[in-house]
Amino acid sequence: MRIVAATGNPGKLAEIQAILSGLDVELEPMPDDVEPAEETEDTFAGNALLKARAVVRQLGLPAIADDSGLEVDALGGEPGVFSARYAGASGSRDEIDAANNALLIERLRGVEDRRARFVAVVAFVTPDGGEWTARGTMEGRIIDEPRGDNGFGYDPHFLSEGETRTNAELPPDVKNARSHRGAALRALRPHVEAWIRGQGP
Ligand code: IMP
Repeated sequence: MRIVAATGNPGKLAEIQAILSGLDVELEPMPDDVEPAEETEDTFAGNALLKARAVVRQLGLPAIADDSGLEVDALGGEPGVFSARYAGASGSRDEIDAANNALLIERLRGVEDRRARFVAVVAFVTPDGGEWTARGTMEGRIIDEPRGDNGFGYDPHFLSEGETRTNAELPPDVKNARSHRGAALRALRPHVEAWIRGQGP
């Protein structure tokens, strides 16, 4: 069974592949000529579905897509679905991450409640009209001083619950094993499995 991962990110592709291992699935990266969906919804689930539907519409193959971000309680859930473009900066990935992190810490100046979570929603959409979503979270808090060089995005400022190392200080396999995206994908797997079974031999 061919399934397209609606992502150009090799790290995400590998993570999806790992969690679907053992299923009769050939996971394919998104071909360059597929027009990616614009993320116009105000929920992670809405945007994950948009991304997966765009692939199904253009290729006629089942697709898995994800949408993720950081929710900070004291900021009413911001940056949320705007996590990737919070500060509105342009430039390299590192420059955009630096601007987003600077804005986050600025908004939290003087704020004591630092509770936050990473959220991921993954969507599985099939050409016969099937749509499933699953959600995963990683609870933690935001610290002012960044630490660590691994990971990406808000990782240097995020301490997960019960952990003394920031996400950017964790070895990648440790972070992936605990991550919001991993949890969401593990919750999605039974739906993918059931759909494949339903396609018959
Ligand atoms: P997406 O690729 O559209 O899902 O964008 C997610 C954005 O949320 C990223 O650009 C990061 O800013 C942030 N984000 C999501 N997951 C993580 C994570 O595991 N660590 C750090 N930042 C994350």
